[in-house]
Amino acid sequence: MRIVENFIAGASAAGGSRQSDVFDPNSGQVQAKVALGGAAELQKAVDAAKAAQPAWAATNPQRRARVMFNFKALVEQHMDELAHMLSSEHGKVIADAKGDIQRGLEVIEFCCGIPHVLKGEYTQGAGPGIDVYSMRQPLGIGAGITPFNFPGMIPMWMFGVAIAVGNAFILKPSERDPSVPVRLAELMKEAGLPDGILNVVQGDKEMVDAILDHPDISAVSFVGSSDIAHYVYSRGVAAGKRVQAMGGAKNHGIVMPDADLDQVVNDLAGAAFGSAGERCMALPVVVPVGEDTAERLKAKLIPAIEGLRVGVSTDADAHYGPVVTAAHKAKIENYIQMGVDEGAELVVDGRGFTLQGHENGFFVGPTLFDHVKTGMRTYQEEIFGPVLQIVRAADFEEALALPSKHQYGNGVAIFTRNGHAAREFAARVNVGMVGINVPIPVPVAYHTFGGWKRSAFGDTNQHGMEGVKFWTKVKTVTARWPDGSADGGNAFVIPTMG
Ligand code: NAD
Repeated sequence: MRIVENFIAGASAAGGSRQSDVFDPNSGQVQAKVALGGAAELQKAVDAAKAAQPAWAATNPQRRARVMFNFKALVEQHMDELAHMLSSEHGKVIADAKGDIQRGLEVIEFCCGIPHVLKGEYTQGAGPGIDVYSMRQPLGIGAGITPFNFPGMIPMWMFGVAIAVGNAFILKPSERDPSVPVRLAELMKEAGLPDGILNVVQGDKEMVDAILDHPDISAVSFVGSSDIAHYVYSRGVAAGKRVQAMGGAKNHGIVMPDADLDQVVNDLAGAAFGSAGERCMALPVVVPVGEDTAERLKAKLIPAIEGLRVGVSTDADAHYGPVVTAAHKAKIENYIQMGVDEGAELVVDGRGFTLQGHENGFFVGPTLFDHVKTGMRTYQEEIFGPVLQIVRAADFEEALALPSKHQYGNGVAIFTRNGHAAREFAARVNVGMVGINVPIPVPVAYHTFGGWKRSAFGDTNQHGMEGVKFWTKVKTVTARWPDGSADGGNAFVIPTMG
C-alpha cells in the first residue's frame, strides 16, 4: 500500500507512526495511507525552515519571483497528472480538478509580480532634513492548514504569497487528500526553490496543535470548518501568533422577479451541485422573491436537477462525482432526513443513489428541498453536499435579511436585471463576497478572498494585497543626516512636526 509521507528540506521524509486511510471515493476502496505525525515530525520541518529562511529572505525579490514563473510553467506541464491525482482522492470531476489547480496558479501569477508589490512607501522631507520610509519584511516561518475540498488551490493561496515575500512555509494539508500538496512541493523544488522553504507535514489534530504551539512559527493561515477555524484562531492567537482562519459557509442566491430564470437555473445547477456541493462558495440556498417567482423557479429547477449526471470523477460527461468519504456521505444523508423531519418539502431525494459498477462509491444524488424555514437546523447549518434548499421570501427586504442574519457570511449572489436593486443589495448585505448575476463570486487572485461573521476569524483575507499584508510585517524608518550645525531643539520634548 502506498504511504503518503512528509516533504521536508527538499526530500521525502518519514511521517508519524499513526496512519489514516486515503480513499478513492469512486470505488470506496482505500487507495493509500497517510502517515500522521506530531511535534517530532514538525520539529524537523521547523529546523529545515529555520536554516533556509534567512538566505531566502535576503534573495532579491526578482529572483524569488523567477521561481514562481518556473513553478507556474511546471504546474501547467503537469496539469493532467495533478488533476487526475486530485480527482482520484477528492472525487471532483477532472475538468473541475483542473479548475482547482488553475485558481491556485492564478495566485502564483500574482506572486510573479511580487517585486512591484513589496516596494514600500517613502516620504522625503517629513520634517526638517528628515525622511521616512517603510518596508515590508517577511515574518520568518509561516504555516498553512488546509481543507480537503481544494487541495490544489488553497495550499497555493497560502504558500505562493508567503514564500514570494520571503518566508519559509510549512503546509499541513487535509489528511483526506494529501498527495497533490506533496507533488506541488516537489514541483516548487524543481522550479528552483531552495530546500527547506516549502515543507509538507501530514497529520490531523495532533499536528495542528503542534503547529499552533510551536514558538518558531510566527503566523498560521487556516481554511476549514468554522468550529475548528475558531479553535485554531483562539489557540494560535493565545500563543502570540498572527492567525487568519476561514470557516464554513451557507451562501444564498437571491432571485428577483425580473431575473432571467433560464440563466438562473443553469447557474444554480452548477453552483449548488458542482463538486457535489463541496465548495465553500457553493450556492446551497436559493431565495426566490415573491410566490410567482418561487413557483416559476421550482418548475424549471426540477427537470434541470433530475437531468444532472452523477458519475465517476473521470467521466467527462458527469456533472459531478462522489463526495469525499463514506462518513461525509452519511452526514449529508442524515441532513436530508433531518430536513424531512423538520417539515421541509423534499422535492427531489438524492439518497440511496448508486452507480452501476461503483456500488461502494460515495455518491449522493442531487437533492432539492422547498419551503425551508429559518428556524430549521438544516437551514442554519452547512450541509456541504449536493443539496439545494428553497427559502421563499415575500419581498426584497426579507430576502436581504436572510443572508445578512445568517451565522455564516462567506458569499452571496443576487440575480436581477434591476441595477438599482443589485446596487442596494451589494451595499447593504452583511456578507463578505457578493455576486451580481455571478453565482460563485470567488474574487480573482489580485483581489482578496474572505468571508464575514463565522466564515472567517482574524482580520486579513487570503491572497492579493491582503495576503501580502498577512505574510509580512511593516518596518518604518525615520532618518536624518545632520550636517553638524546644532539644531537647537529641546530633546526632552516629544518631537512633533508642529
Ligand atoms: P475541517 O475543518 O474538517 O479540516 C480542515 C483542517 O483542519 C484539516 O487540515 C484537518 O486536518 C484539520 N482538523 C480537523 N479536525 C481538527 C481538530 N479537531 N483540531 C485541529 N485541526 C483539525 O474541514 P474540511 O472538512 O477539510 O473542509 C470543509 C470545510 O472547509 C467546510 O466547512 C468549508 O466551508 C470550509 N472551507 C472554507 C473555505 C473558506 O475560504 N471560507 C474554503 C474551503 C473550505
